[in-house]
Amino acid sequence: MEFDKKTALITGSTSGIGLAIAKNFASKGANIIINGLGDAQEIEEIRATIAKDFGVQCVYSNANMMAPEEIRKMIISSQEQFGSVDILVNNAGIQHVCPIDEFPEDKFNAIIAINLVASFHAIKAALPKMKEKKWGRIINIASAHALVASPYKSAYVAAKHGIAGLIKTVALEVAELGITANAICPGYVWTPLVQKQIPDTMKARNMTEQQVINDVMLSAQPTKKFVTMEQVAAMVAYFASESAASVTGTVTPIDGGWTAH
Ligand code: NAD
Repeated sequence: MEFDKKTALITGSTSGIGLAIAKNFASKGANIIINGLGDAQEIEEIRATIAKDFGVQCVYSNANMMAPEEIRKMIISSQEQFGSVDILVNNAGIQHVCPIDEFPEDKFNAIIAINLVASFHAIKAALPKMKEKKWGRIINIASAHALVASPYKSAYVAAKHGIAGLIKTVALEVAELGITANAICPGYVWTPLVQKQIPDTMKARNMTEQQVINDVMLSAQPTKKFVTMEQVAAMVAYFASESAASVTGTVTPIDGGWTAH
């Protein structure tokens, strides 16, 4: 299979897009490290199901993406167990919707830590082994908000724009070493992260739930459809493939036409 003998670590993969990415890599033969928060028993069920359904090794790391030392330990123990992390998908993310002059400082800092700074720590720890193997794929799940802004999402937009800069820089530093670095920029995907921001958006914009879905989310996307998790996972698999060896330093939308506006 395409990713036999490869190891893929996906941060924030106990839910949503990250879980879809983990399952897709497992279905193509990769060993998997899942990571994220949540109920321990539910996570163990997710881990065991991936291992059983796809006949691959799947381990779970509970590293908190706000804690640099835990991120380093997660990468190092994965390298010890599997030889290297060949495919690193920085996906963990949180959101908070609020006008900037009311934005809680702890929330701003947490969004920057999880959505931006955690990627620096993971990339830094994963690169030495990728360099040794002369092969590696670093893929960040950024957002259409890495390319354009929306009101009331200052921390998230700042973090995702930061990811675009980080990934371009990494791509240049490792371009001759068989390692690529790319950012994927989904529009709205129907996941818990999007569902949870509806109440705050209703408040910030004085709208009903249906108005938020139609007039804020889907109005941004000319297709008038949510992007699916499976579509994002398929794009990630392409960026990890041999065919994509020359694709590096890109910040690529999958957003139903949103950023074509
Ligand atoms: P989600 O809420 O379903 O999943 C987020 C994952 O991150 C979960 O597994 C959660 O446990 C994990 N996580 C959160 N905080 C963490 C922490 N401190 N340490 C470790 N793990 C942590 O969200 P999603 O929609 O699947 O989002 C995944 C990524 O895709 C995020 O980076 C998000 O910004 C990005 N994205 C989502 C959308 C969308 O519309 N859903 C659009 C563009 C980009």
